[in-house]
Amino acid sequence: MTQEEILSNPLLAPSPHPFSAPAFDLIKEEHFMPAFEAAISMAKEEINEIANCPEPPTFSNTIEALEYAARPLSRVEGIFFNLLEADSSEVKEQIADKVSPMLTSFSIYVSMNEALFSRVRSVYEACRSNGYKGMAKDQIRLLEDSYLSFKRGGAFLEGKAREEYSETMEDLSLLELSFSNNSLAASKEFTLLLDSEDDLEGLPDYVKESAFNEASEKGMKGWLFTLDRPSYSPFMKFSARRDLREKMWRAFSTKAIGGHYDNRSNIDKIISCRMKISSLLGYETFADYALERRMAGNPEEVESFLSSLMEPSLVAARKEVSDLVAFARSEGFGEDEFMPWDFAYWSERYQKKLFDIDETLLKPYFRMEDSLEAVFSLAGKLYGVSFKPREDIPGYHPEVRVFEVLDEDGKHLALFYVDPFPRKSKRGGAWMTEFMGQYEYGGVDYRPFVSIVMNFSRPSAQGPSLLTHDELTTLLHEFGHSLHGMLSKCRYPSQAGTNVARDFVELPSQIMENWAYEKEFLDSFARHYLTGEKIPAEYIDNLIKARNFQAGYLQVRQLQFGVLDMAWHTLKEESSAGVVEFEKNALSSYLTLPYVEGTAISPTFGHIFSGGYSAGYYSYKWAEVLEADAFSLFSENGIFDKATASSFRKNILERGSSEDEMVSYVNFRGHRPEAEALLKKLGII
Ligand SMILES: [Zn+2]
Repeated sequence: MTQEEILSNPLLAPSPHPFSAPAFDLIKEEHFMPAFEAAISMAKEEINEIANCPEPPTFSNTIEALEYAARPLSRVEGIFFNLLEADSSEVKEQIADKVSPMLTSFSIYVSMNEALFSRVRSVYEACRSNGYKGMAKDQIRLLEDSYLSFKRGGAFLEGKAREEYSETMEDLSLLELSFSNNSLAASKEFTLLLDSEDDLEGLPDYVKESAFNEASEKGMKGWLFTLDRPSYSPFMKFSARRDLREKMWRAFSTKAIGGHYDNRSNIDKIISCRMKISSLLGYETFADYALERRMAGNPEEVESFLSSLMEPSLVAARKEVSDLVAFARSEGFGEDEFMPWDFAYWSERYQKKLFDIDETLLKPYFRMEDSLEAVFSLAGKLYGVSFKPREDIPGYHPEVRVFEVLDEDGKHLALFYVDPFPRKSKRGGAWMTEFMGQYEYGGVDYRPFVSIVMNFSRPSAQGPSLLTHDELTTLLHEFGHSLHGMLSKCRYPSQAGTNVARDFVELPSQIMENWAYEKEFLDSFARHYLTGEKIPAEYIDNLIKARNFQAGYLQVRQLQFGVLDMAWHTLKEESSAGVVEFEKNALSSYLTLPYVEGTAISPTFGHIFSGGYSAGYYSYKWAEVLEADAFSLFSENGIFDKATASSFRKNILERGSSEDEMVSYVNFRGHRPEAEALLKKLGII
């Protein structure tokens, strides 16, 4: 690519926007392929220069040079892969198919580069032997991490093993992509179109309205329900039609099992690739390999962590289910067996009876716009930051809003992109991401471009976008991740923001969820969207009481995911059971509801098969323990206490992984985290 071609490609050229924000207004799909090609070839040149440097290897000309190499490629990747999730298209999917193997082969080019590795190794050995003299903590960690990445990336492998390793890595990246495409497609494959009012029994108006709109948009008459969460969950909670709930539940629980988008063979192949990779690298199982660089450290630690929570939680969960069944029978459920498709519906009614609370009562008080404002002002109270709309900076879709985040002293901290509503081009769920993370280079502090992507129900002719309390909690969660990105104050990009151990990364997000249950916070913004009336105090009281409703059941559900993940990733040889059977066996001791033949979670369990949480799902619970323990300090000192918040900012949010995560944690809390804090918080013990 010539200099001129580079300058005419908005993915590579300097951005015309403030803060060098991504030029989404100029980027077209045809820019991606040439940008990837050019950025990869530039990155290769940089790598060659470092590897073939005539000077003797030093920390600066080798480790730091490597850390800062391939910045243009990171930028293109950051933009492309986020758009692939949030605003996809057939063309983007085709580009991803082409680019994924190119990127894998580039990363292998780096990790298998003998000249480069020998320089890294000699810097590592020299620094170690002189006791890391003159090095800062973040530099020592960077050095150790670089060395370990080479080791874990196969740099020690030779000959046939080396070839096998590269081939397996390439296969794996394609299989993971195919898994994720299948999950998405399988989820869109099923819809339930209802054409009679009788079929809508029990559904609140807002659910009917959005189903009606969903149908109209597709030119259909009636009410259309899908397996996307905002459609599926309310249906399961409110539909009084047991037959239809069963139909929806079965469709949801057999996604990607059989049919056009079957993921079963992808799973077998993914697991077998991962086993091969870990065994080539000298680890007993994939979990041993994956956990080496986490807070937990090894599979035994994770298994004992999960079972220390599982035992008391299972007792609580089974009691909760039997209470629920007794309630259902007393309300006319009859003598039928209580099935999984009955759970959400009867829980909703039981909860309403116990706490006189349901989503439809609360929803009108949580206007999406107000909730977002409230979350911004919470960040203001805690950390002194403020959010200024920047309509002059383009988003990647007309519905995306861009804010500038400013520190207490007015200093620019970050750009924040908010993308609230579902689209066909967007995958389901909610997530935080970055187009570019924070880092320092050459005396300049490069501030990040952070984004949250949600699937809240969109405003309609009938009214504004309203959040359920769950969605408000999700917003706080993703916003917590965002703060971790925005407030980052690190030198090295690989240590900045959310680049921390997988089992630490959910601490900043999960701790924010606590504010969704604080009266003082809710009172500050929750007003009825029609009457302007403040949220009634009894609603908040009930919300707080309801918080631990079925806490044991929900905890067991999460622990089941963790157990299943560990079962797949501690395999030492391929399982011949078949995916559905394997899962059934792994979870058989932890059931709280009857098992339904032929159903399974694994075929759409993207977290572990395509999302980077392999042998890592436990980390949600691990982080909950950290969070329960950490939030108790806010509870003691006051939920808006500035001193506590600023210690959390300084020790946790700014630190990234420039410091050992356990050290950061203890610096904030004053002691190591304890599982008991969570069991107590949930009322299980
Ligand atoms: Zn999260």
